[in-house]
Amino acid sequence: VTGIRKSFEIPSGILGKKKILKAVNDVSFEIMEGQTFSLVGESGCGKSTTGRLVSRLLTPSEGEIWIDGEEISQKKESQLKKMRQKVQMIFQDPYASLNPRMKVRDIIAEPLLIHTKLSKLEQQRLVSEILKVVGLNESHADRYAHEFSGGQRQRIGIARALIMKPRLIIADEPVSALDVSIQSQILNLLKDLQSEYNITYLFISHDLSVVEHISDYIGVMYLGTIVESGPKDAIFSNPQHPYTKALLSSVPIPDPKLRKERIILKGDLPSPMNPPAGCPFHTRCPVSMEMCKTIVPKVTQVALDNHFVSCHLMSS
Ligand code: SF4
Ligand code: MG
Repeated sequence: VTGIRKSFEIPSGILGKKKILKAVNDVSFEIMEGQTFSLVGESGCGKSTTGRLVSRLLTPSEGEIWIDGEEISQKKESQLKKMRQKVQMIFQDPYASLNPRMKVRDIIAEPLLIHTKLSKLEQQRLVSEILKVVGLNESHADRYAHEFSGGQRQRIGIARALIMKPRLIIADEPVSALDVSIQSQILNLLKDLQSEYNITYLFISHDLSVVEHISDYIGVMYLGTIVESGPKDAIFSNPQHPYTKALLSSVPIPDPKLRKERIILKGDLPSPMNPPAGCPFHTRCPVSMEMCKTIVPKVTQVALDNHFVSCHLMSS
């Protein structure tokens, strides 16, 4: 993903001028095959929009998206058939994304109906297979989504994504609606599926403790930009950006010796309709300098291991 941007026009009142919301503002990252890249940040930072751009549910205003050697950023729907098969999505609320009037077997088979010419029999054989893979069984197939708990519904959502044998799954807050104990079951399932089928994940979450569990690489987003990215261990043990440090300081750590003092950010998240000039974080940054108000920091590489930060403290 190279330099993608997405703006939305927001109408404001009858006489008011249209406002422009820059939801995603020059975002770049790379995901290695069979690995998990997570986007983490507060709600409204542009991570879901980024996921929808990569999955081409939205079209970027600018930038490139390459999947398996194919640039898809501006392709028309009719040209996206191949891509639609290999990229699947999982959403936060499996209940909202599952049709309550359909039986589980038909929910899971639906992508096959759309994308393949397999016979009904063959479709149902695959459904039975995939039910087992996600920890459900044949007895679940003829029930309706509302008969299941949140965790089981997410298993149904995963089965539906998985049945196309996708190369990339974009998972947008897939465990945020679940109890903590169920969260780890679903995260473990996603990890097992990854090693079994070599699936690549773009994982989206506001929750660093979830992201720690599943990621190889992490991108920390703030106001539509990635302010820091790198291998998971670098982000957790050697964070450089003041925003990453603040986020990490609010993650509960069981061992009191490892606990750091909590950094409370001043002020509210600025409106993406009226983002600050200079460094987008300067209105809340505990160590901001005069130059941060006007000059946008460049991306700087911290170490050899693909660790990047956008902060003037790093580039001086
Ligand atoms: Fe803080 Fe300045 Fe770095 Fe932005 S560039 S994070 S305001 S120190
Ligand atoms: Mg979101």
